[in-house]
Amino acid sequence: MLLQIQSGESLHSYIDRNIFLNWKDPSADFFRPFSKTVLLFSELKTIASAMGWLGCPGLNRLLHLHTEYPIHSVIRNSQDLSYSQDAYISEAKWMGAKRQDYSFCPDCIKEDLYTHGFSFWHRLHHQNIDVCAKHNVILQRRCPFCKRGFYFDNHGLEVMWNGCEGRSLAESVAVANHDPIEYKRSKLLNDIHSCEYHISEQIALKVLYEKLLSVDCQDFLPSQNADIYINQLEWTISRMDLKIFASREQLSRIGLCFEAIMLAYESFDGFLIDIKCHDNALRPIESLWGTYKSGREFCFDYVTDDFNSELG
Ligand SMILES: [Zn+2]
Ligand SMILES: [Zn+2]
Repeated sequence: MLLQIQSGESLHSYIDRNIFLNWKDPSADFFRPFSKTVLLFSELKTIASAMGWLGCPGLNRLLHLHTEYPIHSVIRNSQDLSYSQDAYISEAKWMGAKRQDYSFCPDCIKEDLYTHGFSFWHRLHHQNIDVCAKHNVILQRRCPFCKRGFYFDNHGLEVMWNGCEGRSLAESVAVANHDPIEYKRSKLLNDIHSCEYHISEQIALKVLYEKLLSVDCQDFLPSQNADIYINQLEWTISRMDLKIFASREQLSRIGLCFEAIMLAYESFDGFLIDIKCHDNALRPIESLWGTYKSGREFCFDYVTDDFNSELG
C-alpha cells in the first residue's frame, strides 16, 4: 500500500520515502524506477494514477500540490484554458521536476517529526530561495555531518530517513535569517504556490506597471533595478498582442512579474487586492485541471477530460 503524501511534500521526497520507509511493501518496487534525476510527464501521470488521482485532473493535482509547477501556472494568459497545456499527452521530460539543489529547514524537520512521526523534503525548499518562509531560518544545502550536498549522485534523499554517520538531520541547529529581502522572496514564492486563483498575466502586467510608477519602491525594497523593471514592463505591455498566446513568451514574463511584485508590494495579498479590482471573475485554480491542449504552440484546441479526481 502506498504511503500517504503529505501537504507540502515534494514529489521526489514522496517517491524516495516510499522506497526507504515502505521497503517491505510492493509499492517500493513500483516507485524504484522513478527515483532518478528527471521525470517524464507520462511518468508523473503514472504516479498520480497509482495514488488514485486519475486522468488529466489527477496529473494536474499532482503538479499543483507537490511540484514547482504553480510558479508557471498561477499567473497565466487568460486565453489559455488548460492548467498544464499539453503535459497530459506529452512524452517530454519535465525539467522543472529536476531532482537537484535539495535543502532542508531544521525547524520544519523537528515540527514534522512532532506532528507526523517522520519528516520529509518540502517542495518549496528546493527552489531558488535561501530561507524557510515558515520559520525565517536559513535553508541548509549540505549535510551538517559530512558536508555533502543532496544531489542525486551525492547524498541521496534517504539521508532524511536513514541519517548520516549515525546522526539525524533533526539534530542540526537552525540559523536565524536576518535578510528581510530573502525572507520576502521566500514568502512571495510560498504565497504564489498557495494562491487559489489564476491571475491573468495581461492584467498582472498592467497592474504592476501602474503600481511601480506610483510608489516609491524604496518603501518596500532598496533596489537600483526599479527603473529596469518599469521599462521591461512597459515594453512587454506595448508588444503584448492579446490575440496571440505564446506559452514560450509567457514563461519569460513570469520572472518579470515576480520581481515586479517584490518591488511594488509589501505582500502578495496587496497585489491580489489590486488584481481583484480589475478582474472580478478570477478563475479558481482547480477549474483548469480537467482541460489540456491537444497540440503545441499556437494551438487553440482544448480537450476536457472527464476523469473525476475527487479521490485522495
Ligand atoms: Zn521551516
Ligand atoms: Zn552526510
